[in-house]
Amino acid sequence: MKMKDKIVVALGGNALGNSPEEQLKLVKGTAKPIVDLIEAGHEVILAHGNGPQVGMINLAMSTAANSAAGTPEMPFPECGAMSQGYIGYHLQNAIREELLNRNMQVPVATVVTQVIVDRNDPAFQNPTKPIGAFYSKEEADRLVSEKGYSMVEDAGRGYRRVVASPKPIDVAEKETVSALVEKGHVVITVGGGGIPVYQDGNSLVGIPAVIDKDFASAKIAEILDADYLIILTAVEKVAINFGKPDEKWLSKINQKEAETYISEGHFAPGSMLPKVEAALKFATSKPGRKALITSLEKAKEGIEGKTGTLVMLD
Ligand code: ADP
Ligand code: MG
Repeated sequence: MKMKDKIVVALGGNALGNSPEEQLKLVKGTAKPIVDLIEAGHEVILAHGNGPQVGMINLAMSTAANSAAGTPEMPFPECGAMSQGYIGYHLQNAIREELLNRNMQVPVATVVTQVIVDRNDPAFQNPTKPIGAFYSKEEADRLVSEKGYSMVEDAGRGYRRVVASPKPIDVAEKETVSALVEKGHVVITVGGGGIPVYQDGNSLVGIPAVIDKDFASAKIAEILDADYLIILTAVEKVAINFGKPDEKWLSKINQKEAETYISEGHFAPGSMLPKVEAALKFATSKPGRKALITSLEKAKEGIEGKTGTLVMLD
């Protein structure tokens, strides 16, 4: 890697944990590989998932709305905005502290970020992402008729609301993010894939949906003309025949190989598939762009080219 690359780092669920206490502890470790990159002279933009966090916020808010008189129903896009603030607060403080521990003065901030989607995205015809609480059949039927929710039976545990997972088209706050990056600030953006909105004249209207954080990270990396997209997750490398006796860990894949492996079904939908697709989309969007998928623990070695799965045009 040349000196001073522009790098978008996408953090997975294992970087944040499942409760405020856990998150506060985990982000201290998460901050280290991020600050390693900054210390090496790179420009770093941080993205992250929010599945458990937005789930927790949504569940708490809907439980409160169903019990305590006067607590209003909190729409899902607002829950997403809350999760960006809550996660960003912990991340920006952990990174700030790690920077100061190394005597580095670099400003860090979170931008509440809206991601524009197409109102006619075919994903809206087929909602797939379960969110929030479990309900009985009767409650589920009531939510369908009263609120127009889509409800599905979830593995024998009850009924859950499902929302669509549309593709990101643009990032509403891209100029702000870009200006901060140009000024040398570390920016946390598109948290949880961004708050999904559609454009209606001058209005941005929030939609209850979940944009995959891997796709949103690839989108902001393209917009910012980044050199590198690094997706940090729970595994050191991407595998074919994952979990099978003939499992094979991959160090490097080009476009043709990635497309073949995708069509052969090697990557699980909802976990590894969006990462490989997002990595491929970014790596093939302009010559020279590279994407790396590796674990948080191996981030440093991965960036040094010693491990992880590199996705490149050829
Ligand atoms: P994140 O929270 O980082 O988005 P996910 O759980 O969504 O993490 O995706 C990472 C997981 O994908 C890994 O922990 C692994 O269990 C799973 N996975 C599925 N298919 C593969 C594969 N072909 N190679 C490696 N990991 C895979
Ligand atoms: Mg994931």
